[in-house]
Amino acid sequence: MGLQGNQTADWYRRAAAVLVNGVSSQFRYWSDDDTLVVERGEGGHVIDMDGNRYIDYQLGFGPIVLGHGDETVASAVAEAAAAGTTFAMTQRREVEAAEKVMEALPWADAMRFTNTGTEATMHSVRLARGLTGRELVVKCEGTYHGGHDYLMFSTASAHPGELGPREHPEVVLSSKGVPSAIKDYVRTVPFNDLPLLEMLLESEGDRVAALVIEPMMGNAFGFMPEEGYLQGVRSLCDRHGILLVFDEVKTGFRMAVGGAHEVFGVVPDIGTYAKAIGNGFPAAAIVTKGEVADGWRSGGIFQAGTYSGNGSSAAAVRATVDRLLTGEPLARIEKVGKALMEGIGRILSDHGVEGRVTGHPSMFSIFLGSGDPKEFRDTARHDKKLYEDLCMRMIPRGVMPCPDALEPWFICAAHTDEDVAKTLEVFEKSLGEALESK
Ligand code: PMP
Repeated sequence: MGLQGNQTADWYRRAAAVLVNGVSSQFRYWSDDDTLVVERGEGGHVIDMDGNRYIDYQLGFGPIVLGHGDETVASAVAEAAAAGTTFAMTQRREVEAAEKVMEALPWADAMRFTNTGTEATMHSVRLARGLTGRELVVKCEGTYHGGHDYLMFSTASAHPGELGPREHPEVVLSSKGVPSAIKDYVRTVPFNDLPLLEMLLESEGDRVAALVIEPMMGNAFGFMPEEGYLQGVRSLCDRHGILLVFDEVKTGFRMAVGGAHEVFGVVPDIGTYAKAIGNGFPAAAIVTKGEVADGWRSGGIFQAGTYSGNGSSAAAVRATVDRLLTGEPLARIEKVGKALMEGIGRILSDHGVEGRVTGHPSMFSIFLGSGDPKEFRDTARHDKKLYEDLCMRMIPRGVMPCPDALEPWFICAAHTDEDVAKTLEVFEKSLGEALESK
């Protein structure tokens, strides 16, 4: 028996009759009797078709930063929807939203909206290639930058065992259907390893257009950059004339209002933002240093999108970023995240479990394994089975992280102190049972 109650199972059957595997996005499918169907979200909670309420730590894989159904965002979107959302012209709400985004990101000189993180990273790679006249891109092993062909290699869905020697990594295709020739344009390096990046760039740096990197590994346990790593990456890019793209689709407007620049003090050439920028509405942005945007302005590099900057998404961005700029929501998130990270760490050590809580209070993961993991290859030491078993015991008790520990627990400003207390209680009970049945 899986996670579905009777009503949810009925709805899942209806879903599967019309949507492939009952989902609109591959990551949402767990199994035929574990895939839930949601009735609604409320703050930090999600409610399924049987009325079961869960403390939601998936938060849509990160976008929900204020809480599900946040009233200010919902009313801004409703008002925008009634005013007509999509025009073949720039609109007021789009300008107001862009002004808010630029206010939050003081390093930035120019931007354009898109709708998804995938579009944002795809256009960034094209922009970098067009500007530099070079064709190679470098990415880290274990990062995911969206579903387009450019970067669908060695993502977190690869197995660390497939990646070959660290010094000469295999570039692993993450989906059938991506032309194998595209692999020739991609180079991969382990995160947090400057010497290997330096070695790669010494030999091929003059052919590299962009280095696309998540400032912390938002798709692999939330591993943080080591002291000086991002600064080193910046200076290697400068040395070789490579554009540095920070993919902040997960970190942006979540780890800090000003994202990685605010936290680590490193300025990229291009930043991609999505998810938390619109609290769950489809909005994303490509943000650049001034001269980079000339690629669109006058450099013959194509970027477009029918719904880019649409009124309802723009209204969501404006309302969300406006709230985030007060500092309150992220201060709350930090407090809740820290309490959970500390509490979970304590429970692991009380139960003699080898492991640690990795990441940032706004998005953290639980690594069940030895040592001090800092890059994707280290995830081979994580006890995936124990973690999954633990999650499958927590979810029926009303606490819902993603059962894949690569995907962090996300915190929103609507999570309450009671949520924290209940989560720690359920975590401890479920861990005890999972260890017993191991
Ligand atoms: N970049 C990163 C770092 C992501 O985590 C994701 C999605 N999880 C994407 C890009 C793609 O974003 P989207 O799903 O909005 O296309």
